[in-house]
Amino acid sequence: MAQQQAAPQGQQQYTPEQIAAIKKKLESMKPEEIQDMIKKQCVFCRILKGEIPTFPVWEDEKVFATLEIQPANEGHVLVFPKEHHTVLPQMPDDLVAHLFSVVKQISAVVFEVTGAEGVEVRQRNGAAAGQMIPHVHVHVIPRFQKDDVVTDWTPKQFAEADFQKIQAVLTDKSKDIKYHNPEVKIVEKVVSAPAEEPAPSAPSPKPARRKPTPRLNRHP
Ligand SMILES: [Zn+2]
Repeated sequence: MAQQQAAPQGQQQYTPEQIAAIKKKLESMKPEEIQDMIKKQCVFCRILKGEIPTFPVWEDEKVFATLEIQPANEGHVLVFPKEHHTVLPQMPDDLVAHLFSVVKQISAVVFEVTGAEGVEVRQRNGAAAGQMIPHVHVHVIPRFQKDDVVTDWTPKQFAEADFQKIQAVLTDKSKDIKYHNPEVKIVEKVVSAPAEEPAPSAPSPKPARRKPTPRLNRHP
């Protein structure tokens, strides 16, 4: 029995003809044109262009840090590269190093300003991993005991032989990894996140591009 799947709320539904037309159009486009089109729809690229208001915290020529508009806790910061990359394995090494150096320092600021008992750094790649915006970003989340922010998983059970099997494959495939690898390995197969979703960083109804007021040691 053929079932028609309802489009998730807020998402546009296309007919097979429209999908075929879009595919045809994509095939005729140059890679630069496709990249340009992606950037035009990307929430984070639009934030960088000033098209979507946000609460910036820090920036330099390569990296941008702003408050998450749908925070897990007060002082939840998003850090992302200004250059558009969909997932972490596509980023050049030096940009990854730059990004995570900033993440480390923002974590220290978040610890200090929020009085957090812990800081969680979360980075997701691909829709299956829960990535909502297909532009690499890192969440820096202040954490407190019993703050109801869900991050745990139920451990799956595997036999020792299963551990050894996956260990052997991972170890073999990891043998070329080294710090500051000059041959930047770019992952080509990407399970892309949906381009249009209710953004975790969707703009608040009233534009508010301003520096946030520092909060002092308040437990949520
Ligand atoms: Zn982008």
